[in-house]
Amino acid sequence: EVDAASPLLQNLNPEQRAAVTLPNEHALILAGAGSGKTRVLTTRIAWLLSTGQISPGGVMAVTFTNKAAKEMMTRLGAMLPVNVRGMWIGTFHGLCNRFLRAHYQLATLPQSFQILDTQDQLSAIKRLMKQFNVDEERFPAKETQWFISGCKEDGLRPRDVAARNEEDRKKVELYQLYEEQCQREGVVDFGELMLRSYELLRDNEPLRVHYQRRFRHILVDEFQDTNRLQYAWLKIFAMSPDGTSTAGNAVFAVGDDDQSIYAFRGARVGNMADFVREFHVQHQIKLEENYRSYSNILDSANALISHNKGRLGKNLRTQQGPGEPVRVYEAPTDLAEAQWLVEEMRHLARDQGTEPGFPRKETAVLYRSNAQSRVIETALFNAGVPYRVYGGLRFFERAEIKHALAYLRLLENPNDDTSFLRVVNFPPRGIGARTIEQLQDASRAAGCSLHDAVSATTGKAGANLGAFVAKVDVMREQTQNLSLREIIELVLEHSGLIEHYKAEREGAERIENLEELASAAESFVMQEGFGRDAVAMPVDELSQSPASQGLNPDQPLLNEPAPDYVEPDAETGETLSPLSAFLTHAALESGDNQAQAGQDAVQLMTVHSAKGLEFDVVFVTGLEEGLFPSERSMADMDGLEEERRLMYVAITRARKRLYISHSQTRLLHGQTRYNVRSRFYDELPEHALKWLTPKNQGFSGSAFGYGGGYGSTRLSGAGGTSWSSEKYASPPVPAQKAAPSHGLKAGLQVFHTKFGEGTVLSIEGQGDDARAQVKFNRHGIKWLALAVAKLTPVT
Ligand code: ATP
Ligand code: MG
Repeated sequence: EVDAASPLLQNLNPEQRAAVTLPNEHALILAGAGSGKTRVLTTRIAWLLSTGQISPGGVMAVTFTNKAAKEMMTRLGAMLPVNVRGMWIGTFHGLCNRFLRAHYQLATLPQSFQILDTQDQLSAIKRLMKQFNVDEERFPAKETQWFISGCKEDGLRPRDVAARNEEDRKKVELYQLYEEQCQREGVVDFGELMLRSYELLRDNEPLRVHYQRRFRHILVDEFQDTNRLQYAWLKIFAMSPDGTSTAGNAVFAVGDDDQSIYAFRGARVGNMADFVREFHVQHQIKLEENYRSYSNILDSANALISHNKGRLGKNLRTQQGPGEPVRVYEAPTDLAEAQWLVEEMRHLARDQGTEPGFPRKETAVLYRSNAQSRVIETALFNAGVPYRVYGGLRFFERAEIKHALAYLRLLENPNDDTSFLRVVNFPPRGIGARTIEQLQDASRAAGCSLHDAVSATTGKAGANLGAFVAKVDVMREQTQNLSLREIIELVLEHSGLIEHYKAEREGAERIENLEELASAAESFVMQEGFGRDAVAMPVDELSQSPASQGLNPDQPLLNEPAPDYVEPDAETGETLSPLSAFLTHAALESGDNQAQAGQDAVQLMTVHSAKGLEFDVVFVTGLEEGLFPSERSMADMDGLEEERRLMYVAITRARKRLYISHSQTRLLHGQTRYNVRSRFYDELPEHALKWLTPKNQGFSGSAFGYGGGYGSTRLSGAGGTSWSSEKYASPPVPAQKAAPSHGLKAGLQVFHTKFGEGTVLSIEGQGDDARAQVKFNRHGIKWLALAVAKLTPVT
């Protein structure tokens, strides 16, 4: 057995090899960052396949992001000639979607059910609350959303929630109404995907047994960040609901308690201990060799995390030498920090081709919160450095894309009221708010969708509504036999969206995005094999026995595997329409990081998004008390420890070079903060660091009269005091210049070449550091560096 797979096992150390070749029983691989957990997991799949112990249809592997799933498939494809689509590799949400698509009837869902992303969910809740006259002051929609998602993550339906008071009862009632609304409209949110598939498996024994027999191996990466429901979902594949009989399959979980960073979203690191106990895990393997980083980087990570209590206890060492020291930089302002970053990157780029030679895409800038990216983006943009931001407003979340998707969703499902409301009067066609309210009343009274309620409306308003519905119905007819790309092009034209944006002064970019949507659809079709003539792939088998084929990394495969793949109905061969599949893809993708391959660009992302990734060069920015660790976390020990784990994740992303920086002042959320440098600096080993700026600069503590340098005075101890702007609203600042040279002031109308017209809301800073906050008519509020942004007053 082992022989046939020996090439696979060659690049592993003895512990890794032991993990890869474990027998078909539950196992936990607990190991620190960069120790090869993900590599072990992927190799185990390849090993199981190549030794003929399992067919691709028998594998289920859960990853944390779609990106990680794609990567895993690509790796597997390179190791073995195997149909990666037969394997269930994806995120929890992706896999649940695939499951519910296969059993939509049992799950009492329409075949073409659509997925609400977080944004859609919020607007659905807002609409509901308005409809039932719920006081938004008392019950903010966001909190209701939080409540509902929390219940679902704990596996609770409205009837299961114990209400202790009037307020609870109201929330539960909203949850109930929300469920009814979703069911009526044929839509599911992310939590529902999980809960619904869990319940189906729990309650339907034959189905459960079928899947338990099918998936002999279930492998889970980043296990430390699973929540209660995800854990229960995994468990239901391995045993009966009461835990008495086991299915005989094997759950292979890999994780690192030190990298648990999603407690705020319900992740439970305790799932690891529960797993060992409830699954009677016999095999626990630790991996202690780090293959990612030089020892200065690793020492820093180890020293930092040793300040956390109650760890499961792991060691991590590397055989690579010390490497370069960790570079530390203190900037006077966030702008200066960004400029320094760009300067450093220029050096890195210049080093290209020679040692050390860092391609841009191997450079990552990490930050604690999305809001920090603005300054960095501006600096990179102005310096002409290509960059890519993960997170932030993703393609599928842009307004114009959402509008187009809403039309497309209505083609699939006229009863999707969220989509109906989004575009019933967009582009504007004279349907007013009152008309819509009346329509909503009518639909409620008749217990039908808005679409169906239209026929009962009268008068001019009724005629307008009727025209809208007719337009959509005609589009549905016209698109019957078209390819996905053609459908999208037709909808963009006939909906009037293109024309609408053509008339807009700033519409060009939106039209480009809409055109990009058509291209995205086309490449989606190519990946999924959803072309008109494409034949559905066989589900559960490998073309030939893998063991007999040996290993051929050159074997061409589906080079861009698609984790959203949904297999056709096993009996009828019926499959999702390409449109439906594409809409699903769009919704799932919106909850994930979006990566476009190809261009060599610097990578910007939050530390959370960087989990599991690695880069040659990493900048961790904004190491300031109140920012990293974050203000909220500092109130309690658990919060602080989670921040420390987050910093541990950040540090351990770096292979060769690590920078850590902070800034004395920072403009964030419209306020200037006067910062104290993060306590995390004091937890790093001095021998591994190199200060690029003097360690205790005059400007810091002493200039403000706080006494002493940062290093010697602990300004914010366990009590959680922070030196943010709230507490020190007016710290001493250098004398103001007599008159600002830019001639702008709040209230002034301005024009910007890219963003168009807007109103100045405020001005911060002076000279080269001056920034303006501008509310653009079409692009919302933006901060602009006046030294570079070309703003002209409109007279
Ligand atoms: P994280 O905790 O950050 O998710 P991980 O434990 O999953 O990390 P991997 O990403 O699997 O670690 O591996 C880290 C790096 O080390 C990768 O580049 C991987 O290819 C490499 N690596 C792992 N094991 C070995 C090995 N035995 N020999 C050489 N390189 C290895
Ligand atoms: Mg990993």
